Amino acid sequence: MNWQISDEARAVHRASVVWDAHTCLPLKPGHPMNSLERHRAAGATYVSVNVGMDFNPTAQVIRVIAGFRRWLAEHADGYRLVHGAADVGRAKREGKLAVSFDLEGSAMLEDDLAMVQLYYDLGVRQIHLAYNRDNSVAGGCHGSDAPLTALGRAVVDEINRVGLIMDCSHSGTRTSLEIMERSTRPVVFSHSNAMALKRHARNVTDDQIDACAKTGGVVAISGIGIFLGADDISTETLLRHIDYVVARVGVEHVGLGLDYVAEHLSDDLPPGFDPKDWWPPGNEYDIDHLKIVPPERLPEITEALLKHGYSADETQKILGGNMLRVAEASWA
Ligand SMILES: [Zn+2]
Repeated sequence: MNWQISDEARAVHRASVVWDAHTCLPLKPGHPMNSLERHRAAGATYVSVNVGMDFNPTAQVIRVIAGFRRWLAEHADGYRLVHGAADVGRAKREGKLAVSFDLEGSAMLEDDLAMVQLYYDLGVRQIHLAYNRDNSVAGGCHGSDAPLTALGRAVVDEINRVGLIMDCSHSGTRTSLEIMERSTRPVVFSHSNAMALKRHARNVTDDQIDACAKTGGVVAISGIGIFLGADDISTETLLRHIDYVVARVGVEHVGLGLDYVAEHLSDDLPPGFDPKDWWPPGNEYDIDHLKIVPPERLPEITEALLKHGYSADETQKILGGNMLRVAEASWA
């Protein structure tokens, strides 16, 4: 259906912290971040920008961060690289988009705990331990359901100590449950949907949803069609996943992580990269043609939540209040 955005929805949207827990830009050193303007125009308050997956060499990750930091510094009139959670509110008051970085995996830690603090100092505020495949730290969701390793347990402790958001999207089920058991801070799934509505290794089971809520965390619903179900990126389908998590664990534990991929490029992949290694065949991956809910949909999501019976207060929690709460508990 076509949603008309009511004046009430516009007002609620404007007053909200609208938090997109994961977005992707080309991982090319020096590539401009202009696409984030689409988030700003859609009323987003904060966005977490991916700076590397387990298959990106560490030198590439560091150079991507360097380029993004430089771009943000040169565009300080419209953007704020956040340090602590209070910077998100500050950015909103200034009419700027708050930004920090996230890592999809832990290969770029190079099995060195000291790297956690380094990435934090460079602006990373959210991290997975594995990206689809198993690694030396954790199991991936397309791996062998490996446990968290001894090194992995030390990495969780260090992430807790330094103060990054612990993120279990792309992790294997067993690893994610062990992380949530161990972590002393809230744990999120920054872009994952309900397995009960769409069977896919990237989605999360009821047990994972329950464990996440128990940590005080958030399941942030992704906008990728093959994870929502039947490659359907309608607002109604997105809402079904939100409703499912709310019905299971309450309105305090759901958010948004659209995972929109702006400017899809294939030449930002490392040499020798084989997509089949990371996105195994038989899982509907067609990486060049993914359908994804775009950031322009954010006001419509607000309208749909309100029309669907969520109060203004509940709508604001789902749009970003819950993720802000996790950031406040994690970034300190
Ligand atoms: Zn991802």
